[in-house]
Amino acid sequence: MDGDTLHERAGAVRDAVFGRAVFVRAVVELSNHCQRNCSYCGMRRDNRGLERFRLETAPLAESLLANIPESVTDINLQSGEDPQVVEEVALPLIGILRRETRLGISVSFGLLRDDLSRALRDAGAGYYVMKFETADAEQYRWLHAPAALERRLEAIRNLAAAGWRVSSGFIVGLPGAPPNATALALRLLEQLPLAGASVRPFIPGPETPLADAAPAPVEQALHCVALMRLASPRWFIPAVSAMAIGRKDAYTRALRNGANLATINLTPPHLRGSYPIYRRDRIIMTERLVLDHIAAAGCVPSPVGMLAWRPALPAAPINE
Ligand code: SAH
Repeated sequence: MDGDTLHERAGAVRDAVFGRAVFVRAVVELSNHCQRNCSYCGMRRDNRGLERFRLETAPLAESLLANIPESVTDINLQSGEDPQVVEEVALPLIGILRRETRLGISVSFGLLRDDLSRALRDAGAGYYVMKFETADAEQYRWLHAPAALERRLEAIRNLAAAGWRVSSGFIVGLPGAPPNATALALRLLEQLPLAGASVRPFIPGPETPLADAAPAPVEQALHCVALMRLASPRWFIPAVSAMAIGRKDAYTRALRNGANLATINLTPPHLRGSYPIYRRDRIIMTERLVLDHIAAAGCVPSPVGMLAWRPALPAAPINE
């Protein structure tokens, strides 16, 4: 199968399960403090040049309640690995969001103590994003990715067993990858108990040990999106903002060819530069941009949230 056919088939599979509906979520980056030291990530502990911030619950809650765009059905709270922000900000914020809104709540806080992830669940979060980054244990170690690959996978399985809907994923084109890295990652995704999966192209961060490494071609990430959709028709698969950096149409193509989730960034504008997952001039996805990409892909924003979505039942059996 050539690339175009594969991408079209992935789009058709997405349409068959989800129709043309794309889930729209917001992301807020709560803190860039991080106890890890991943070589690929600008938030790493050893990046002394980074001004660190931790948002405060009350002003953030107030601003979110006033500014959540209409198309948004879910919110993802993300941060460096920072148990303090989980305890002091995320938990009360989730309580407020549950009381005041109907948003589905997802979190991406890395490896947490069991009592903290349980508290998040009890507060009303339902979806956990925990990427394994690479499926090759040796490369994982070499990159100083969090803890160890086995530990990260164990955490993913434990979250799913505790009732979370879990999304995982990897970075394509990370330095030090063995030749079969992508195939390994795709296979590992299929073996995990997941509700969603994601892929990001590697983008060298200027303040990291991998600053001089080559970025991954966006085409590779698009290809992975299509393969993931074909592997698992029901996954939530995001188009990611990194796809809008190089080739502007790549984000739209992701939505056309299998992705069904778009993210609007609601981190307070003056702090966005300090959340350098990729690089300081990363593309900030506004509601306008996201809705334009969704329309350009021939899709519509989903009226139903990710956590409320249920697959359509097949036609009812006829009683003879
Ligand atoms: N601390 C949390 C989540 C925040 S980091 C955790 O450990 O899960 C969010 C994600 O950014 C990471 O999971 C990683 O996949 C991605 N990321 C970091 N640096 C990157 C880079 N240089 N290129 C592409 N993706 C990167």
